[in-house]
Amino acid sequence: MTLPRHASPRDPDRPAIRTVTIVGGTHGDELTGIHVVERLRSRPAAPGGRLDIRHMIANPAAIAARRRFVDADLNRRFGTGTHIHEAALARKIDRTLGPKGAARTATDCIIDLHTTNTNMGTTIIPVGLDPVSVAILRRFVAINGSARIMLPAYETIERQPYVTSIVPVSFTLEIGPAVQNTLSHAAVTTMETALRDLLRAIEAVAAGEADDSGTPEVTVYRPIGSVLYPRDDAGRPLAMVHADREGRDYEPVAPGEPLLWTFEGEVVPHRGNGIVHPVFINEAAYQPEGIAMVLTEPVPLVPG
Ligand SMILES: [Zn+2]
Repeated sequence: MTLPRHASPRDPDRPAIRTVTIVGGTHGDELTGIHVVERLRSRPAAPGGRLDIRHMIANPAAIAARRRFVDADLNRRFGTGTHIHEAALARKIDRTLGPKGAARTATDCIIDLHTTNTNMGTTIIPVGLDPVSVAILRRFVAINGSARIMLPAYETIERQPYVTSIVPVSFTLEIGPAVQNTLSHAAVTTMETALRDLLRAIEAVAAGEADDSGTPEVTVYRPIGSVLYPRDDAGRPLAMVHADREGRDYEPVAPGEPLLWTFEGEVVPHRGNGIVHPVFINEAAYQPEGIAMVLTEPVPLVPG
């Protein structure tokens, strides 16, 4: 069986995946991915043997400062042009791995390792749903079992500001719960398992192996909006996540069910018409933007 070649809107003849770059420390306070990359570097017999595996620690200055970033979020800087630390760093990483949008890039695939304080378990976020990415995702969820697939909140790869958006077949692995600036055995083990399973899936697709996993229809979670905290005139939040939502990422919420709990003791319900599946519930990194959670809806995984 011949699998579709590595598809890109710009280059239908792009070659199959050979090099995979595993990135840790895009966010300097997410120690799990940094630890996993450092362990891979120290072990010669790493997973993904038939692939050319490379590693990168993305933001050493932020790691040294034990902060998510120095000036601004590195993972919102790809394709933007300002003069802060992370924008310059994004340009340097783009030169090393990309360049973004080119028909030929220095690496064929990026796996960016992240953690979240939310209860999202193993979540994989592809940059797009070209046939190769879909083939990898189907195999990955067949191997891993507990992983969920979430789509990025941008229509096109060009508009995505993430390090993964440098090449069109790339994945963010988001593991939770993990507290910022803290290592937990459970999160490290979950991330290493997910990374091993993903490399196995990429390797199989890159080698053109037939998919005999018999994976039934796979669900992906598509972001449809964010729930913001109500604020007072000074911009201070007036509510918190409702107890019924806390720690219940991906669980369905019907219209009228609680999302937030105001400081006055009132429920803020889900006011939409359909059932939603909140994720990133009470994500620490989203608090400065006033985001309480991201709402998603499940849709079938199909190339598109
Ligand atoms: Zn992160």
